Amino acid sequence: KESVMAGENYEDDMHPKEAQDAAEKTALEELQEVRKSLPIYGYREQLLQAVEEHQVLVIVGDTGSGKTTQIPQYLHEAGYTKRGKVGCTQPRRVAAMSVAARVAQEMGVKLGHEVGYSIRFEDCTSDKTVLKYMTDGMLLRELLGEPDLASYSVVIVDEAHERTLSTDILFGLDIARFRPDLKLLISSATMDAENFPGRRYPVEINFTSAPEADYMDAAIVTVLTIHVREPLGDILVFLTGQEEIETAEEILKQRIRGLGTKIRELIICPIYANLPSELQAKIFEPTPEGARKVVLATNIAETSLTIDGIKYVVDPGFSKMKSYNPRTGMESLLITPISKASATQRAGRAGRTSAGKCYRLYTAFNYNNDLEENTVPEVQRTNLASVVLALKSLGIHDLINFDFMDPPPAEALVKALELLFALGALNKLGELTKAGRRMAEFPLDPMLSKMIVVSDKYKCSDEIISIAAMLSVGGSIFYRPKDKQVHADNARMNFHTGNVGDHIALLKVYSSWKETNYSTQWCYENYIQVRSMKRARDIRDQLEGLLERVEIEISSNMNELDSVRKSIVAGFFPHTAKLQKNGSYRTVKHPQTVHIHPNSGLSQVLPRWVVYHELVLTSKEYMRQVTELKPEWLIELAPHYYQRKDVEDDASKKMPKGAGKAAI
Ligand code: ADP
Ligand code: MG
Repeated sequence: KESVMAGENYEDDMHPKEAQDAAEKTALEELQEVRKSLPIYGYREQLLQAVEEHQVLVIVGDTGSGKTTQIPQYLHEAGYTKRGKVGCTQPRRVAAMSVAARVAQEMGVKLGHEVGYSIRFEDCTSDKTVLKYMTDGMLLRELLGEPDLASYSVVIVDEAHERTLSTDILFGLDIARFRPDLKLLISSATMDAENFPGRRYPVEINFTSAPEADYMDAAIVTVLTIHVREPLGDILVFLTGQEEIETAEEILKQRIRGLGTKIRELIICPIYANLPSELQAKIFEPTPEGARKVVLATNIAETSLTIDGIKYVVDPGFSKMKSYNPRTGMESLLITPISKASATQRAGRAGRTSAGKCYRLYTAFNYNNDLEENTVPEVQRTNLASVVLALKSLGIHDLINFDFMDPPPAEALVKALELLFALGALNKLGELTKAGRRMAEFPLDPMLSKMIVVSDKYKCSDEIISIAAMLSVGGSIFYRPKDKQVHADNARMNFHTGNVGDHIALLKVYSSWKETNYSTQWCYENYIQVRSMKRARDIRDQLEGLLERVEIEISSNMNELDSVRKSIVAGFFPHTAKLQKNGSYRTVKHPQTVHIHPNSGLSQVLPRWVVYHELVLTSKEYMRQVTELKPEWLIELAPHYYQRKDVEDDASKKMPKGAGKAAI
């Protein structure tokens, strides 16, 4: 891309341009050589033949063999893109972006032209796009607008072994049945543990002799030990998320500094979903001679991304997983032990280019006795409300008999239906209502969509989509560097003046930034993450477009913040909690003890009744993004969900009739 642009600058001087062109050509030629060296290349003709002969094909191959980057190109070269796009789904957005960038490079085109990607809130495609990488969730959303996927000639459901909720639903929908001319390729990493590790080069597996009390610390010590004692070769460490990765990066840097200048250079490369794409590309840069690279990654590096040159894998044995309790309807992200299948995949990453070593930071006993064989498919451990709403809008009514590969617990389906009914998205017969139809247009959790749809009534859609966008950013909004925590906290509390609650504080951040005409300087001064704000603006723009589509006018009601709060409660009424004597909270509907997150502006205020955005489990079960509510709103906004007795204060019960109101 850069060389093309540089070439344009030199238009009246042909020599540099020719030189550029030549350089570009050699780079492209080299890439073509690399393509031919991939294991899948040997199967190219056989594969194309099989696609010609069959409508549905299952392709299984080692990670890194070239399935994701090569198959779409083979199909393009064979002419399939003349009849429609080739779509290729990925379970994670980083993978979709990264792989698309690589394929664009291999084809010598600009990303977003012939090769593009589409992830939630970010569409990097154009009319020219013929190879489209996307998250599986996006393909499901595309189905809502184009139920037969008419614009596609081939759909590749990649990484099918991951069994994400969206891939499972895509299989259940059985699109191939309605489109005899559509080719459906299902591709998956090798999951056969017996045959797996020896496939390329041997990987020596080491377990710890005793359980580790602190796997983060153990991981860091292991990395340093490898770096100091073992021959050159890059290290891949599996951690559970952005926070852990950032902490590990910081500690590693410190300890390396402490080791002095005698040891070789250690290049630290983090990779996780919210990492900016410029930095994501860094993990693929070849390690300079004499140095070592350590990649700190989430599960993304287990099968979705292959980094060449990894010789050592450090596997603490955990990943962050969604878990859902269908009885209480509560969902949280939990750090959970991985399965044996995952452990095998992780180890396999060490033996791709030469013999390698895997350090498991758990005992062999632990591995043999405590780890599950396979990861439980997402459909069995998640809130299904969003998917049920999507299926209903696709016209699939009988969910009990939907062709799930592994059916979800019946309780979870019932819970989803109940929630959608309570939100007014379904009527008593389980049919989609007008509100439900509108809600389905938004690529958001149904509670967020409901909040937006209701804001029409309260004339505050302008504020509500800003809040929804800020809540959907994913990364953190506030920046809190270790050496400036007090300043950062003060800056953050400015937005909380008047104890407005976290939702309104987010709104204030957004509107203040907008007033400065989206100034970066303003973000620095206020300890706000510029990148998160830009993403919020993109998301907000999209939500604004969707408002138009469902015919909701943009209206603003900044002076009547209770309207904003009511809209929030109208969407999030299942997430309400009431203060207890000891300063903890109890959720109203399915009583459980929870706490206000220390980062919340209300953590010292402790209002009597609160509505929260989500629960996160760290040392305790914390409510994140909390706003005060008036209990009578629950009866007003969710009459089928709450009864008087749910929202009566204990104190008021003992009081004579009528006195309760005053207490509230
Ligand atoms: P599979 O899907 O079978 O796991 P891929 O098609 O993802 O395999 O990878 C094939 C090869 O392409 C691997 O050797 C990988 O290292 C390389 N590759 C993939 N993405 C990039 C990238 N962004 N930069 C450099 N190499 C890449
Ligand atoms: Mg792949």
